[in-house]
Amino acid sequence: MRRPYVDDRKDSVLEILEQALARLIADGSEQEFAVFLIGMERSRALSDVLGYSFGEEVVSLGGERIESTLREKDSVVRLSNDEFVILLKSGPSAGESGIVAKRLIDLLQHSYDIRGQVVNVSACIGIVLGPQNGLHAELLLNRAGIALRAAKAAGPGTFQFFEAAMEERINARHALTADLRKALLLDQFEVHYQPQVSMKSGQVIGLEALLRWRHPTLGMIPPAEFIPIAEEIGLIKTIGEWVLRTACRQAALFPTETVVAVNASPIQLNGGSFLDDVDRALAGAGLPANRLEIEITEGILLEHTSTVLRTLHALHARGVRLAIDDFGTGYSSLGQLAKLPFDSIKIDRSLVGASAQQRAIVRSIVALGEGLGMSVLAEGLETEEEYDNARSAGCIAGQGYLFGKAMPSNQVQDLFRQLSCSHSASDSPMPARDDLANHTPRKARRHRRVHSTVLLHN
Ligand code: C2E
Ligand code: MG
Ligand code: MG
Repeated sequence: MRRPYVDDRKDSVLEILEQALARLIADGSEQEFAVFLIGMERSRALSDVLGYSFGEEVVSLGGERIESTLREKDSVVRLSNDEFVILLKSGPSAGESGIVAKRLIDLLQHSYDIRGQVVNVSACIGIVLGPQNGLHAELLLNRAGIALRAAKAAGPGTFQFFEAAMEERINARHALTADLRKALLLDQFEVHYQPQVSMKSGQVIGLEALLRWRHPTLGMIPPAEFIPIAEEIGLIKTIGEWVLRTACRQAALFPTETVVAVNASPIQLNGGSFLDDVDRALAGAGLPANRLEIEITEGILLEHTSTVLRTLHALHARGVRLAIDDFGTGYSSLGQLAKLPFDSIKIDRSLVGASAQQRAIVRSIVALGEGLGMSVLAEGLETEEEYDNARSAGCIAGQGYLFGKAMPSNQVQDLFRQLSCSHSASDSPMPARDDLANHTPRKARRHRRVHSTVLLHN
C-alpha cells in the first residue's frame, strides 16, 4: 500500500487498510497509529470549465504531494474521486498528527499549475487515532469519515479529530429519524398556536400554527430539530399536509375574524400537490380561504422555481394570504419580493430589538412593505421596549412572548372566551385583519394592548 494506489472500491481499500493494520499489530512493537481521511474539494468551476480530466489531474498531483510528505513506513491509498486514506504508523500523538495534517492541507491547497492553467483546491482532513478508537479498518474509516464531515462543516482547510461525541450525535440523529418516520402514525404531533396581536387595537388577529412533537421518551421536541430531518428524508410533505389539515380544522373553531398562519417548507411548495392539500384542508374544515395564511421563509425569494411561482399565484387567487417569514435573515432579493404576491412581511426577531440600528432596520422594512402594499408584523417581541419600537416604526402587528407563547388549541379557545367577555363589556368588535392595512400607529390605544396582554398571560 505504498504509493497512492487508486481504487474506487471501498471494499478493496478496506482490505488494504486491514492488511496494513494486521502487519502493524503483528509487529507488536509500536501499536499506536493514526488514520487520516483527506478530502480534496475541487471547485465546481474547475471541473465544469476545464473538464473532468483536468480535475482528475489536479487530484492525482495532490496524491503525489501527499506521498512526498510520508515516511517509508506510512501508507497512502486513494479511496474515491477526491479522497485519500493514509495510515501513519509509530504512534503519532494528537499534537504530531495535527502538525502533519496542517502541513498536508497547506501542501494540497497550494496552487496547481497544469499546462499553464493555475488552479486552487481546498482540502479537509478527518483524523482517527488508534488503537483507542478502533482496530478494524471499516470502523476506523467510518470514524475518519465522521471527523472529515465535521472538518468540512467547520470550513475549508480544516482538520478534525474523531470524538466519541460526534458519533453519539450521529447515532442520536439516526434514532430520531427512525422515530420521526413513525410519529405521525403514532399520533405524536400537536399543533400549538401563538397569538398575533394588532398594534392598533391590542386584539388577537391571528394565530401562528407551530408544530410540536411529543416524543415518548425525549419529551417535547422543537420543530427546529426535526423539520430539517423531515425535509431531508422526504417526510415534510406528509407532515405538512397533516399540519394544514389540523390547523384548518381547529381554526374553524376560533372566532371568524382570526387568521391561522401555517408554515410551509419550500419543498412542499415545490412538490406539485400543495394546492390540492390546501384545497382539501379548507374544504374539509369549511374554512374560508382568507382565514388561512401560508408563511414561507425568505429563502424562497432566491430559489423559487416555476412550480413555486405558479403555486403562490394560485393561492393568492384563491384568497389565501401569503406571508414572508423571518424577513431580514437571508439574502433577500428585493426585486423578487416585489414580483411575488405576498400580503405581509414578518420581520425576524433578531432585528426587532431596541438598538438604534434595529429601529432603523425595522423602519426601513415597514417603508418597503408600505411601498409594496404589504403589511408588516414584528416577530419575537419580548419586552415593552421592543413593542414600543416596533409600533412606533409602523408595524401593524406583533408576535412574541410578550403576548404569549404557543399554546394548544383548547387553550386558544379558552383565551377567546375570556377575551370575548372583556370585549362585550367594552362593546368593541374585534377588527378584521384587512382593516389593519390602513392603520395609523399614532392612533394605537395602549391600554387595550395591555388589557389583552394580561389576559394572554393568564
Ligand atoms: P417561525 O415560523 O419563525 O416561528 C416563530 C418561532 O419563534 C417559534 O419557534 C416561536 O415559538 C418562537 N418565538 C415566538 N415568539 C418568541 C419570542 O418572543 N422569543 C423567542 N425567543 N422565540 C419566540 P418554534 O415553534 O420552535 O418554531 C421554530 C421554527 O420551526 C418556525 O419558525 C418555523 O420555521 C418552523 N416550523 C414550526 N412549525 C412548522 C410547520 O408546521 N411546518 C414547517 N415547515 N415549519 C415549521
Ligand atoms: Mg413562521
Ligand atoms: Mg419567523
